[in-house]
Amino acid sequence: MAGSFVKKLKRGLFMTHTEFIEKVGETLRRTGPVEAAQLDRVEEALIAADAGVELSMKLVDSLRQKVRKKTLTTADELLPALKGELLRLLRDTEGSMDTDRTSQRPRITMLVGVNGTGKTTTLAKIAKRKKEEGIRVLLAAADTFRAAAVEQLQIWADRVEVPLVHQHEGADPAAVVFDAISSARSKGMDEVLIDTAGRLHTQANLMKELEKVRKVAGREVEGAPHEVLLVLDATTGSNGIEQAERFGATAGVNGVVLTKLDGTAKGGVVLAIANTLGLPVRWVGVGEGVDDLLPFDAGEFVDALLAEDV
Ligand code: GDP
Ligand code: GDP
Ligand code: MG
Repeated sequence: MAGSFVKKLKRGLFMTHTEFIEKVGETLRRTGPVEAAQLDRVEEALIAADAGVELSMKLVDSLRQKVRKKTLTTADELLPALKGELLRLLRDTEGSMDTDRTSQRPRITMLVGVNGTGKTTTLAKIAKRKKEEGIRVLLAAADTFRAAAVEQLQIWADRVEVPLVHQHEGADPAAVVFDAISSARSKGMDEVLIDTAGRLHTQANLMKELEKVRKVAGREVEGAPHEVLLVLDATTGSNGIEQAERFGATAGVNGVVLTKLDGTAKGGVVLAIANTLGLPVRWVGVGEGVDDLLPFDAGEFVDALLAEDV
């Protein structure tokens, strides 16, 4: 299983990986002492992968410092040193979230973000995975803006075979969530997964609507919503980060789902998320199918990104 997992991640990261390795592969395969030009190439490749200019410079500066201190001397040590830097960055964000261990039932997860990033699809993917793990999940259709949004989620719920709570088009999303939690309680469900309508952080009334949903959830279950995941489309690269920064601040976001990693060479955005937002990436989407979702693992991500065999 672990093998197919890494394969899927590599496929998802294919474009990023190829671009990155094309830029630095040759440099990383060199022998002899580390040269300044090699480090410059690594910096350029990180920037091209959308890790962000500031972060790319910071990461490579720390490699330069190692060269100066002679803890990094030969070119073959460069790749492991870079892996170490990336891992440290990603692992630093992991401690910021410990909600998996909440004993509260039902555990509440809410997906938020702008239109079309993949919230509804991701919700279905998460539901399927949890169900396979024996966790009893219930979906809440809190995107009440258009009837089509509920229909889309209903199709997924039927396919994954999990219950869905919805109301009529235009209903108050907080009321849907209230219903969903009551239903989950009476059915003895473990988790409620909430789909929400796309919105921009600048739409004050819609952000207020999210706040109301959170308030209702928190009144019903202690500490809820336990997980507020911002769904980001990887193909928007660093633009998405800027948006996320503002969104996160107002919506109580404590984790990120990065979707569409299969369609971009900008997978370095995972690093930018860790650096700029200080938020852990919890899941990555690597395709449109219901199984194309992977729990994020820093070690596997870095290995898949920097693997030399392509
Ligand atoms: P929402 O508006 O945020 O709810 O987005 P949807 O879940 O409706 O998804 C929008 C589009 O993105 C759909 O066509 C999905 O199939 C597609 N999508 C979602 N996740 C992924 C992914 O990881 N990879 C690819 N290639 N497409 C995705
Ligand atoms: P479409 O693009 O016409 O299919 O519709 P969208 O779902 O993209 O929404 C259009 C606009 O309405 C966007 O600016 C959304 O942010 C906004 N919107 C989304 N959800 C809601 C909601 O629940 N209430 C209101 N009033 N507006 C919403
Ligand atoms: Mg949706």
